[in-house]
Amino acid sequence: MATSALADILAPGAQLERLATGATWGEGPAWIPDSRTLRFSDIPGNRILQWSADTGELTVYQDDVEFSNGRILAPDGSVIQCSHGRRAIERERDGALETLVDRFGDHRLNSPNDVTVHSDGSIWFTDPPYGILQAHEGHLGTPEYGGNFVFRLAPNGTLTAVITDMEEPNGLAFSPDERTLYVTDTSAALRTDGTGHHHIMKFDVVAHPDGQPTLTGGHVFAEISPGLADGIRVDEDGRVFSSSASGVQVFSPDGELLGVIEVPEKVGNLTFGGEKGTDLFIVATTSLYRIPTRVRDASSRWRS
Ligand code: MG
Repeated sequence: MATSALADILAPGAQLERLATGATWGEGPAWIPDSRTLRFSDIPGNRILQWSADTGELTVYQDDVEFSNGRILAPDGSVIQCSHGRRAIERERDGALETLVDRFGDHRLNSPNDVTVHSDGSIWFTDPPYGILQAHEGHLGTPEYGGNFVFRLAPNGTLTAVITDMEEPNGLAFSPDERTLYVTDTSAALRTDGTGHHHIMKFDVVAHPDGQPTLTGGHVFAEISPGLADGIRVDEDGRVFSSSASGVQVFSPDGELLGVIEVPEKVGNLTFGGEKGTDLFIVATTSLYRIPTRVRDASSRWRS
């Protein structure tokens, strides 16, 4: 199930459990405390699924969702999600949608992939082209601003490109003190010539008096193999949990591989949730899995 180095991280006797199956390619999990559900995207299925902790059933939350991808719970209880089809970041509350941003200057975004929130109220997201290059993940389209950036959407609505030199940024997560941002690069995903990245980058977040942080010191934190680092999460002790083709790979804050939570399907993304926030939910291709841990998400430090 898991290597012994993970004994301090997983709950005693932890076993991986398959909770539900039936997705085409699952992504974007978020635990919704109000409804005690785990919500996630089935991107090619163009729908959002939800698993209920009360009934144990998987149901369709919404159909025809314009190929939603990553999502995260906002501090106010709304859900921030990425839309490939609308090329936008949107807020979802009780089924109603509000577009937060879909342009960088005069140009449309590519296809926002994954999103996280900062304690200062800003929303950070990645914008690779997967939803405009593949008809089964969105609508074929053209990149407009000439890159695949990582953006920060400030609480006042100002959109700033904070990383402009990664190839295809995908998952992202802050360290517990928010002084570090981890961003995955999955540029190997669609290439057939063996090139492209499958790693996690680590950046220093530098605060400025005007409230607009900058990133410095980007370097490779970990290479993910087999497969890619798609979605990631960081726990309250700073460990990085990464998706991969073999399961969830867990790294120390220094980049040492502590162990692998083996999963029988290719992992696309993961999130902490459940009653105490210590259940690790794993979305892997067609199925949703859960394994109990002793740790919570890094953002539990500032989320009340
Ligand atoms: Mg992703």
